[in-house]
Amino acid sequence: MLVIHPDECIDCGVCEPECPIEAIKAEEDLPENEQEMVEVNKKYAELWPNITIKKDAPEDAENWNGVPNKYQDHFSKNPGSGDES
Ligand code: SF4
Repeated sequence: MLVIHPDECIDCGVCEPECPIEAIKAEEDLPENEQEMVEVNKKYAELWPNITIKKDAPEDAENWNGVPNKYQDHFSKNPGSGDES
């Protein structure tokens, strides 16, 4: 999981079409049941390390596409090592 600090995002929208599974949404476009993700993004953007280099997607990324309740059922407070694939 990656997070974006909502106070640092300038809402330019450039990243939205770049995400292959359309996981990035503008704050104002979030449905009611995803509103909590704004605070989750803010909190973990301040705790987790910044990503400074481009990497390939993890090998199991496609397996996670569309899995329901990922945050509720699979979220870890620990940052990834970047070597999860
Ligand atoms: S690219 Fe995405 S995260 Fe970065 S400022 Fe634009 S909308 Fe925000």
